[in-house]
Amino acid sequence: MSDYSTLSHLECSRDGSTHDADRVQGVSPAGAPLLARYDLDRVAVTPKEIAGRPPDLWRYHEMLPVRDPAHVVTLGEGMTPLLDLPRAGARLGVPGLRMKDEGLVPTGAFKARGAAVGVSRAAELGVRGVAMPTNGNAGAAWASYAARAGLGALIAMPVDAPEITRRECVVAGAELYLVDGLIGDAGKIVAEAVPRRQGWQETSTLKEPYRIEGKKTMGYEIVEQLGWRAPDVILYPTGGGVGIIAIHKALKEMRELGWLSGDLPRLVAVQASGCAPIVDAFEAGSSESVAPPDPHTVAFGITVPKALGDFLVLDAVRDTGGTAVAVTDEELLAAEHALARDEGTWICPEGGACMAAVGKLRESGWLDGSEDVVVLNTGSGLIYPDTVAVDVPTLAKDGRIA
Ligand SMILES: *Cc1c(COP(=O)(O)O)cnc(C)c1O
Repeated sequence: MSDYSTLSHLECSRDGSTHDADRVQGVSPAGAPLLARYDLDRVAVTPKEIAGRPPDLWRYHEMLPVRDPAHVVTLGEGMTPLLDLPRAGARLGVPGLRMKDEGLVPTGAFKARGAAVGVSRAAELGVRGVAMPTNGNAGAAWASYAARAGLGALIAMPVDAPEITRRECVVAGAELYLVDGLIGDAGKIVAEAVPRRQGWQETSTLKEPYRIEGKKTMGYEIVEQLGWRAPDVILYPTGGGVGIIAIHKALKEMRELGWLSGDLPRLVAVQASGCAPIVDAFEAGSSESVAPPDPHTVAFGITVPKALGDFLVLDAVRDTGGTAVAVTDEELLAAEHALARDEGTWICPEGGACMAAVGKLRESGWLDGSEDVVVLNTGSGLIYPDTVAVDVPTLAKDGRIA
């Protein structure tokens, strides 16, 4: 067998049972997400050799599930910049502040990572179409990568999801439905439709094993970009929680590979106060979350009232000595605007939530200002045009500026 991938099996995240990785799988029999496991002792590449590979997420292919390089479906995703934020860091009292800017990936949000790996592996296993509910960005990404792979895509999203993401689905030729409800309602409709379609797979958040593998490359990249060293703290805008679970998984894999030593970075789950089930569960000392009654926030990507992997998010936070923080929409929008003025980078409101959380954690003393802190900006501000109001004068043709 080739070692392009060292994938060995799938493991139930709840009871540890083992499952075949070479057939199409959803959740485990226990109803929990399946995690991909690798024969890491067969990984022959060294960090130094990885440095010479092309600048995309496939540079970590030994730790990704696609077995045959011919099945890789790519639009150039990964190796996004890890930016210093000197002005913002000084303003917030955290000089060691950096931002991993996922606004630069195809489709404008980090969902492209999960879609690239998830779609590639689905195609490799013979899937003909992928179907999913979405709050917008994931649907746009999966529709785009499905088109690239020549697969069908069935997407259902709330009518309130950002309009641009509808257009991204439509332009990529996906079959799109708008649902007069929340993502959970869209999910029920999709789950009912998929079994009636031969060869189609439901690829809802954490209901297939490989989206998490794509997202974990954010963790590999942060560590590689810091010279194979982990930061002290990573803040992540948490909806379904795939990214934070995935970064935690990547960090543990790198430790097992001997590529990373010492304490893992403290992982911080950031949510919007209008939808903060993980924060509530963290504060209550509970291992599972309870859906809030009226979930709402402008940070649409993190409007997830009840995540299938909530227990894994809480474990990632607690295992690393991290925390969970909620910020208001007002705070996260102010942080989005402030960062653009400070550093010239227009982040998404979810990224804004993390920037606002840095300020809060510094004020509370949880951050003492000496730490290396990495904030995940999960998307571009360009896909959230309505978060910036433009109130400027219009001049006559022969007008004059004072
Ligand atoms: C989906 C999304 C998130 C949340 O991602 P999870 O990994 O599912 O928690 C954050 N930000 C943006 C922009 C998103 O689209």
